[in-house]
Amino acid sequence: MSKLEQELQQEVEKRRTFAIISHPDAGKTTLTEKLLLFGGAIRLAGSVKARKASKHATSDWMEIEKQRGISVTSSVMQFDYKGHRINILDTPGHQDFSEDTYRTLTAADSAVMLIDVAKGVEAQTIKLFQVCAKRGIPIFTFINKLDREGRSPFDLMEELEQVLGIRSVPMNWPIGSGRELCGIYDRMNNQVELFQGDDEDEIEVKKVEGYTDPLIREMAGEYLHDQLCQDLELLDVAGDPFDLEKVKNGQLTPVFFGSAVNNFGVQTFLENFLKLAPKPEPRHSTDGAIAPTNEKFSGYVFKIQANMNPAHRDRIAFLRIVSGKFERGMSVKQMRTGKDIKLAQPQQFLAQDRDIVSVAYPGDIIGLFDPGIFRIGDSLSQGGNVTFDELPTFSPEIFAKVTVKNALKHKQYQKGIDQLTEEGTIQVFTTVGFEDTLLGVVGQLQFEVFEYRMKFEYGVDVQLQRMPYQFARWIVGDNIDPSKFRINSTLVKDKKDNYVVLFENEYAMRTAMDKNPDAKFLETAP
Ligand code: GDP
Repeated sequence: MSKLEQELQQEVEKRRTFAIISHPDAGKTTLTEKLLLFGGAIRLAGSVKARKASKHATSDWMEIEKQRGISVTSSVMQFDYKGHRINILDTPGHQDFSEDTYRTLTAADSAVMLIDVAKGVEAQTIKLFQVCAKRGIPIFTFINKLDREGRSPFDLMEELEQVLGIRSVPMNWPIGSGRELCGIYDRMNNQVELFQGDDEDEIEVKKVEGYTDPLIREMAGEYLHDQLCQDLELLDVAGDPFDLEKVKNGQLTPVFFGSAVNNFGVQTFLENFLKLAPKPEPRHSTDGAIAPTNEKFSGYVFKIQANMNPAHRDRIAFLRIVSGKFERGMSVKQMRTGKDIKLAQPQQFLAQDRDIVSVAYPGDIIGLFDPGIFRIGDSLSQGGNVTFDELPTFSPEIFAKVTVKNALKHKQYQKGIDQLTEEGTIQVFTTVGFEDTLLGVVGQLQFEVFEYRMKFEYGVDVQLQRMPYQFARWIVGDNIDPSKFRINSTLVKDKKDNYVVLFENEYAMRTAMDKNPDAKFLETAP
């Protein structure tokens, strides 16, 4: 093994790259902050909370971020903990998420699903879960806000199975809950973590001889201990056994209970997670599977963030390193164009602060200064012969008709539409017969970003009119008769002239499917 391969192997072994998926308010910011506190955050400017504050006087974020005080696009946080190097990919927790949120998940090797104990599985969690499940990556569950009254753990496990279709295995179990919460029992390590209320310094961890240990009775009282014994007996008999293989291919989710704001259960979660979560794995490409220890550097762009600094009009392309060692100033080949590109200005981007990165390894994310040469999905490599699998596209769910206010600006308008479509900011459709332009997105925020960028980058004022459609289906078949798609639906074409039908409701969609048994209805472009 060469010296470089040895170095790569060591660095890859250390790395864990994951995303936290949750519905807004479940406690993602709080959990992230606690995790960062356990490690000395290497690359983090200010506290995570500061990013949520509504005033960003000195920040150079996109105008929309400033106005709303939310993180529009995801960034990366990196920290070290007990010999590991951890990359957390931040997905915006706001209701207004976008396709970027989904694409970011392709850069993660595992996901942590954060659930509010009182609310259970919520809408945005379901969507994000499905994207992860499609990739078959391991999903770890953290059930948060245990200090509040919530649903029973068995109830929540049932919901994971019913709503998400995934079996679960509790790694720890609460002793009491809400106001009565007094601790959690760690099933894997036979220890009890005691809850002391507000003061997180007072969290005490005690080794015990199994859940029947009288020590737990002393601490928790007879009633709660009896309850714990009953629950765990039931789990031992009827629950799924822990099975690492099933965890690895996403069939079984390890469940942890805790309270992020009280820092309760967070450290045990982190330590178990690091043991079980996968290190960066080989990725599929046209040149076969590319192992992270492959000496030749390679990676792909999964997100492009524009206008981080309106004064400079710069953009950052986020690249997930798949193999080899990144060194500042190195030259790589861009597969799409065949051009050599010197990676001279790599940034590790966090909130307002930008660090220049000089070396990075597989699993790491680097931000590349982009004068407009990168596209989402671009593969870059030293060998020059590697193209990674295309990034998935997502079925739009919200639609609007777009018109330009000043007809003289038509040329700029067309240029803007073309570029923003290519970048993956929006999907664009043209109605058959009327030639109207419709935009499709997965989150309302994408419309706002579109309007903003059309105005400030292309100098075009656009008008968006919301349309009542909820579903898009790409129609594949031999004889497509447009007259068949008129009821509560409309026939459009995408950029590549594929037929797509937009439906107002599920009923209309099902009727169309019944009436056209020979046609295929696909959620995304064929
Ligand atoms: P995000 O929208 O998912 O990032 O959620 P935040 O981290 O901002 O948390 C939403 C709210 O829940 C905040 O008021 C937090 O203080 C609160 N919160 C977070 N974790 C806990 C917890 O363990 N217990 C309780 N009671 N509140 C929590």
